[in-house]
Order: sequence, then structure tokens, then C-alpha cells
Amino acid sequence: MSKSNKKYIIANWKMYLSPDESVKAALAVQKKLRVARGVEVVIAPSALVLRELAAKLGKKNVKLAAQNIYWRDFGAFTGEISASEVHGLAEFTLVGHSERRYVFGEQNRDIKKKVAAALRSHLTPVLCIGETRDEKDFGETSEVLYDQILGGLSELAAEDIHKVVIAYEPVWAISGNGNARPCSVEDLTESVRLIRSHLNHLYGKKISENVSVLYGGSVKAENAGEFLAVDGVDGLLVGSASTKADEFLKIIEQA
Ligand code: PEP
Repeated sequence: MSKSNKKYIIANWKMYLSPDESVKAALAVQKKLRVARGVEVVIAPSALVLRELAAKLGKKNVKLAAQNIYWRDFGAFTGEISASEVHGLAEFTLVGHSERRYVFGEQNRDIKKKVAAALRSHLTPVLCIGETRDEKDFGETSEVLYDQILGGLSELAAEDIHKVVIAYEPVWAISGNGNARPCSVEDLTESVRLIRSHLNHLYGKKISENVSVLYGGSVKAENAGEFLAVDGVDGLLVGSASTKADEFLKIIEQA
């Protein structure tokens, strides 16, 4: 169960759109957006357009997220972007997305530092967790979620845990990874129950009820409503379907 009174609908544009396409799509979303109270709409575009979009969108109904940050604040780290550089341009950052974990080899020891760095720079970290298909087939989902929650949050003080948003994204459900299929409502219900139960075990009941837990993995306009209706789900992280402004708007309408 969740006591969060907010719903988050977050678009992860990965490397799908060019800078010009990103600006066009974000402005199209903002123009037609009618959001219910308590619904936060967030777009994670290419880092190349964060500055331009921050200026064009203003502090209105669409917020911005970085797709990734490095945990050091500055220095000789070729190709990286720090949370402090993102601060002022975005309010959120994804951390530990499965493509970061499995394509770029990020480990919990990096991810926990990134979560802490995000909070240090006043960004809300969206910590992505989820099991692979093999882990699911071997019945290891609960252990994987426990390890990734503990691994991602272990650098935080207890009073900061509630500031993190958790996105449950089973790797086997993420489109673009071949043979992806959306999570069933039953599997999602069970995984969200496990996540809240692990949070309860690690940090207590209040935190387990107050942390926002989102779902991501092949969300589209036609299935968004059923995921949002699952007990304990506080929103969605949407990849490929969010790159089309009209489809993303239809998903938002259901929150
Ligand atoms: C994602 O990678 O965060 C994601 C949810 O992707 P998709 O919606 O394309 O499965």
C-alpha cells in the first residue's frame, strides 16, 4: 500500500530523439497537457537539450530529469555529467537504469553513490530496480529486489530515504531488449508488495508506505491504466511510447 499523494509519469527518451526532435516533442507535450492535481509529469531527454528545455519549459507543468549522473561533483572524468551540473536544469535524475547496469556495467557500489550525489545536489533520484528474465525464471526476484534496494540506498541517512522514488522495471519487460513483454498485473502486484515489504524490513513501516514506487516496462496508452490501478503503484516510467507526444499525453490522462 502507498500513502503517497503524488503520481509520477516519467518519460525516458534514452537516445531515441535528436536534440531538435526532443525540443519539439517536449513543447508539444507541454502545450496540450492538462494534468490533474498531484500528477507530476517529468521528461528525461538527452542531456544535450536539458539547458534549452529548462529555459523553454520554465518552471511549469513539465519537469525535467537527467538520464544519468556521475557521483563526483567535478574533476577529470571524461564524458561524465555531475549532479551539481544538472542542478538548476532538472529536478530529477534516473539512477541505475537497467541499461546502465547491464550495458555499461554499473554496480550497486556506483549506484548508491549516485543516489547520494543526487540528493546532495537537490535532485530527486529515481532508483531503477528489477530482475532479469533468468533471475525471474530461477525464482530470485525477491533477493534481487532486496539487494538492489539495499545496494542503492545504503549511503543515505534514514531521514533521506523517503526522498527517493523507486521505479520497478523488470528487465524482461523493457522494450528494445528483444522479446520484451509487459509485466502482468499479478506479477506487478507481487513485486510491488515485495518492494514495500523489503523497505519495511530495512527502514520501517512509515518509509515503506511513503516511498513512491513506479512501474516501467512496455507501458503504452492501452495498458497504462491497468498498471496505475495496481495497489501500491504511484506512477509510471515510460520509454519508447513516451517519445510520441500524443501517446505520452494519453498515458498521462490516465493518472
Ligand atoms: C525504460 O527503459 O525505462 C522503459 C520503461 O522502456 P520501455 O517503456 O520502452 O519498455
